[in-house]
Amino acid sequence: MYFALPEEYRISAPDELKNRIKEAKTKLGNSAFILAHHYQRAEIVEFGDAVGDSFALSKIAAENANAEYIFFCGVHFMAEAAEILSTDKQTVFLPNPLAGCPMADMAEMDDVLLAWETLENFGGDKKIMPVSYMNSTAALKGFTGEHGGLICTSSNADAVYKYGFSNREKLFFFPDQHLGYNTGIKYGLKPEDMVVWDFSLDNGGLTNEQLDKAKIILWKGHCHVHTNFTAKHIEETRMKFPDVKIVVHPECPHEVVKEADAFGSTSFIVNFVEKQPPGSNIAIGTEINLINRLGMLYPDKNIFELSGTTCPVCANMYRTTINDLAYCLENFKDIKPIQVPEDVKVNARIALERMLAVH
Ligand code: SF4
Repeated sequence: MYFALPEEYRISAPDELKNRIKEAKTKLGNSAFILAHHYQRAEIVEFGDAVGDSFALSKIAAENANAEYIFFCGVHFMAEAAEILSTDKQTVFLPNPLAGCPMADMAEMDDVLLAWETLENFGGDKKIMPVSYMNSTAALKGFTGEHGGLICTSSNADAVYKYGFSNREKLFFFPDQHLGYNTGIKYGLKPEDMVVWDFSLDNGGLTNEQLDKAKIILWKGHCHVHTNFTAKHIEETRMKFPDVKIVVHPECPHEVVKEADAFGSTSFIVNFVEKQPPGSNIAIGTEINLINRLGMLYPDKNIFELSGTTCPVCANMYRTTINDLAYCLENFKDIKPIQVPEDVKVNARIALERMLAVH
């Protein structure tokens, strides 16, 4: 896909763009609603009518039936989820259409369907429940709903596992192996209860015996931002700041999660930081824009990024600029909105509504 902003929006000064966004918002009044993910740039978050993680924002999108136009400052799968949950009278826009999520793209439908064909021999729908992380394509959400499964986010993964295991014997978890594994351990499973399905290999690279025994089959996907962190970063941080509190996201590998003081969703991290007393040293293992914003929000706490050396930026979240937002708000009538095909939408909505019900 090719996307280029008209020159007028590329060369305008930040103050002018901000004024144009404010004016466009005022003109649109209650008919427009801007959702901003926590990982967005600070200048985008400033314009969010709601700011949150993907779970909170999908709930808000579902509840906000009055807003005719939803501008989702996040990545593609989030805008798709909002579109699936919105009413027919609402239209969803992604201000930068190139903002995708590499992790969501790791579970391609052809590979998923091929894997499911194999898993039919291990009980299929009768025994195995597909569970897809919010960070997945609409097509995968549709597949999940069609096969009796549901969506989870890092906020509600525990409740989703409980629901899954009360209804079926096994879970097939997409696409983030780390969130799936970390939630499995928290749920009380043992490492040997979980296997990773490598979609580039026959039979997922697993023996029939492994598939038969597994309680969770994890798709081999990951987030390159969160797999940056290592146990060594934790060790070094503790040596430097013996009183440090370390909080990380569950998309980090288990070796990191198990050494941290706490782990949880983006909202969990925000609350964790808020609760620490002034003067605390707090190291965070997640996306850098959120860490920087928390640093600005709590200048009385020493908040820093856990690795100290890598810059864990989500380049896709970072794509959306105030230039894009100004253009989108002023020209949305000529911009292609996010559209999920009706046949996919029906089952994807079932999977998302199940998620909203079990939280
Ligand atoms: S931080 Fe990772 S999972 Fe989240 S949008 Fe970026 S690439 Fe996807």
